[in-house]
Amino acid sequence: DEDIHKVRPEYLESFQFQDKLMPFTWIVVRIDGCHFHRFSDVHKFKKPNDEQALNLMNSCAAAVLQEFQDIVFAYGVSDEFSFVLNKDSKLYERNASKIVSAIVSFFSSKYISKWNEFFMEKEMEYPPSFDGRAVCYPTSKILRDYLSWRQVDCHINNQYNTCFWTLVDFKERTSGHQNKRCKSEAQNELKGTQTEQKNDLLTKYGIDYTALPDIFRLGSCVFRDKEIVIEHCNIIDDGFWEAHPWILG
Ligand code: ATP
Ligand code: ATP
Ligand code: MG
Ligand code: MG
Ligand code: MG
Ligand code: MG
Ligand code: MG
Repeated sequence: DEDIHKVRPEYLESFQFQDKLMPFTWIVVRIDGCHFHRFSDVHKFKKPNDEQALNLMNSCAAAVLQEFQDIVFAYGVSDEFSFVLNKDSKLYERNASKIVSAIVSFFSSKYISKWNEFFMEKEMEYPPSFDGRAVCYPTSKILRDYLSWRQVDCHINNQYNTCFWTLVDFKERTSGHQNKRCKSEAQNELKGTQTEQKNDLLTKYGIDYTALPDIFRLGSCVFRDKEIVIEHCNIIDDGFWEAHPWILG
């Protein structure tokens, strides 16, 4: 066991695997809350959308942009956030595990330390955690496709969830059924429905989907515009990118 002193550090370092992200590509780090279905239940988030929970996520994302200058844009929905690093970024020599772990742990710390700012009346029952991953996109066109995909996902989930909770709420108020039974009935009613049918359903229950707050329908964008700003806009169409050419410039 004296031999351990003779082992050269380079020998041990040689076992590390290099997870360097491809140079001059847009790095997207997407983080996502671990088991937030449960976390949102335990903390009685409003369904389908708890606005304060979203505001907390957005505030943490703004803090991430403040901390990591190389992040040029972030898009968030539900318990997830995608952070876009400038394609020239040399952060941690583009070492993927360093970048992901630094961002995800910074975000988690902020989420916990800012909790009371957003949920004054609610005690945090247990500290949540987040996972993260990095993906490289070689062109701004493909990066925009990625962001569009997340915003489409936001819309599809939000439309489904809005229908689901409208049905559950209606069933609970009118039938006196058990909560669990209302949920499974609502789920069955929505199975296989298309966008059109979901719109009809919302109309039938007197809900104007287009009148829902932008933060629910569009998700949240965080970026620099003299200062760090949080906006809820369409990032699928060209308009936003034409109005903010410096972001992907
Ligand atoms: P995993 O650990 O695999 O990510 P998860 O339970 O976090 O599992 P997700 O697919 O990430 O599952 O979904 C997050 C869930 O958190 C949503 O389905 C929703 O129930 C809940 N949630 C997150 N944010 C909010 C919010 N602002 N308001 C209401 N519910 C929310
Ligand atoms: P980086 O962000 O690059 O990791 P760092 O400042 O964290 O920079 P490290 O090489 O990780 O640098 O070193 C951690 C430093 O933290 C130590 O040099 C020491 O100054 C301090 N530190 C950590 N743990 C303790 C401890 N238990 N008692 C006193 N100082 C500590
Ligand atoms: Mg996850
Ligand atoms: Mg999650
Ligand atoms: Mg999620
Ligand atoms: Mg150290
Ligand atoms: Mg250290």
